[in-house]
Amino acid sequence: MATSTKPHLKGVVFDMDGTLTVPVIDFQAMYKAVLGNDEYLAVKSKNPSGIDILHHIESWSPDKQRKAYEIIADFEKQGLDRLQVMPGAAELCGFLDSKNIRRGLITRNVKDAVDLFHERFGVKFSPALSREYRPYKPDPAPLLHICSTWEVQSNEVMMIGDSLKDDVVCGKRAGAFTCLLDETGRYDAPEYANVEHKPDYKVSSLVEVQSLLERDFELTS
Ligand SMILES: [Mg+2]
Repeated sequence: MATSTKPHLKGVVFDMDGTLTVPVIDFQAMYKAVLGNDEYLAVKSKNPSGIDILHHIESWSPDKQRKAYEIIADFEKQGLDRLQVMPGAAELCGFLDSKNIRRGLITRNVKDAVDLFHERFGVKFSPALSREYRPYKPDPAPLLHICSTWEVQSNEVMMIGDSLKDDVVCGKRAGAFTCLLDETGRYDAPEYANVEHKPDYKVSSLVEVQSLLERDFELTS
């Protein structure tokens, strides 16, 4: 007798590093290598919820910027060599496919990394937007672009990622549902209690996502 008031879910957009792939990039070490120890500590204290390294180096001189990108590329390359698909990712994608729910990807990593991930995973995400698509997360533009490509509303889409400052902020600004993957419970720390954009869902594994989708969303197309 009760009619379903659950929101319709038509698409899921994933972050790549640390969400679909096991985190292998040591971001803090990368930031330190790019910024130097003193500047790293100064920037970190001003940005308690996390450093936006790409944004930070945009104002640097071309020469300094080029060196920074080389360091970042080095760390990303090491990450690629050790790439592993996140537990639960294949099962979740299979479930979404069985429901005809679209799958997209947005990453601040480069297109080569996405290509390699697609090759290793054997499952393709479309659209898959990488760093070459500007502006990148946390700007909502890439997510809105995917929604318009799919011809769906942003409130029919969920953004899933392991970064509060990039994935959740991008998703909330776009008007999408958001799910934060927090494997270690690091976002339970008090410094994250009063952030402006909070995720609608928080999971410690992708394995938990299917049941929450079945519980809270209308999944029939
Ligand atoms: Mg990530």
